[in-house]
Amino acid sequence: FRRNPGEVEFHQAVTEVFESLELVTQKHPHYAEAAILQRICEPERQIIFRVPWVNDAGEIQINRGFRVEFNSALGPFKGGLRFHPSVYLGIVKFLGFEQIFKNALTGMPIGGGKGGSDFDPRGKSDGEVMRFCQSFMTELYRHIGEYTDVPAGDIGVGGREIGYLFGQYKRITNRYESGVLTGKGIGWGGSLVRPEATGYGTVLFAQEMLKTRGQTFEGQRVIVSGAGNVAINAIEKAQSFGATVLTASDSSGYIVDEAGIDVELLRQIKEVERGRVADYAQRRGSSVSYVDGGSVWDVDGAVALPCATQNELDEDAAIRLVKNGLVAVAEGANMPSTSGAVAVFQDAGVLFGPGKAANAGGVATSALEMQQNASRDAWSFDYTEKRLTEIMVGIHDRCAATAEEYGQPGNYVVGANISGFVQVADAMLAQGLI
Ligand code: NDP
Repeated sequence: FRRNPGEVEFHQAVTEVFESLELVTQKHPHYAEAAILQRICEPERQIIFRVPWVNDAGEIQINRGFRVEFNSALGPFKGGLRFHPSVYLGIVKFLGFEQIFKNALTGMPIGGGKGGSDFDPRGKSDGEVMRFCQSFMTELYRHIGEYTDVPAGDIGVGGREIGYLFGQYKRITNRYESGVLTGKGIGWGGSLVRPEATGYGTVLFAQEMLKTRGQTFEGQRVIVSGAGNVAINAIEKAQSFGATVLTASDSSGYIVDEAGIDVELLRQIKEVERGRVADYAQRRGSSVSYVDGGSVWDVDGAVALPCATQNELDEDAAIRLVKNGLVAVAEGANMPSTSGAVAVFQDAGVLFGPGKAANAGGVATSALEMQQNASRDAWSFDYTEKRLTEIMVGIHDRCAATAEEYGQPGNYVVGANISGFVQVADAMLAQGLI
């Protein structure tokens, strides 16, 4: 902590993983002897850079760009870019650290990294977003590549931003290097199912957890937070499995739709018009109420899918949800539950799927996009979704088996942390003092 002052989210992520790893280091002291824990929480490389650009009013703007290349033991650094005003080194490092274990869990050859900027895309014109992305890539391009580091999207970075970033990379390098970024458009190297993959994968993971209790999504009331890429696709998949999803939210407020969220309307408002969930309430009619501010976790349901941002679900909310019949939580977002909330869920016997396992479908499908790019191929939606399903079932089963092996049956936190760690640590040991 002394070495990384003020990086509270990074401390939180490392603490949670290290608590699980005590079980491993007791059983296998060679990891501690090789100082793997000290090595794994120090990034291989951290890049911080100035991003100057000009807004529509002709004023010069300065943002800060980040790329933390955390661990490349299993493959090129891989992880998204986040554009949000809250971004600083502590957030990028927590996300990059989590990404190491998540990527290992997918079983694909990808290392861990993350990046972004404190740029706020909200309220910016297309031209402003493009100029920002071009300036951001003008520095980033020298650090990335198909075999080095492959960024993707995250909060505030979707298909539009990846397009502008890719265009600038191509322009500077004079290379059509499809595998340098994932989340590309379908017509120019992107993979079908990638936009849906994180949300779909979260629901697939939750479905596997529910099965262990003889349940499914059929007939369940589901609470989702967020209204971005992950949330919308989680809502769609849960409803296709027979659930009623009651909620969606953004940083202004949340909606409760007793008839179940109309996904097409929500997509139109959020993805096409770039509007707010309040607009959904106005357009949808009488089944919906909109709550300005407040917390979506005031609504009751059997399954909770937090899909907005870190630390959005705290201990008090967890206690309330458990009291009102919560059965399962699968994290679509990264670290959305505070440590206190996780403890409440686990003590109450609620099925709890941590983000590094439950939301790994996005990065896994990014790795499938890289495979398609490398072989200059394009797979069908059905085939790619089948691969995603196999991967999510595989991650679930690996987490469950590892938890069992270490005497913590049903503890997906322990299962995910240990399973991901062992794979990365063994590769680090084999590769010498790296
Ligand atoms: P988007 O930018 O598409 O959507 C984010 C959503 O969360 C928006 O509705 C946003 O509301 C809301 N939100 C963001 N910050 C806050 C906040 N501080 N308080 C309340 N609501 C907030 O991002 P994604 O859907 O891509 O990402 C959501 C989460 O999923 C993140 O934790 C991300 O790291 C994680 N994730 C994403 C993956 C992907 O493939 N995209 C892969 C794996 C994990 P508003 O518009 O008001 O800001």
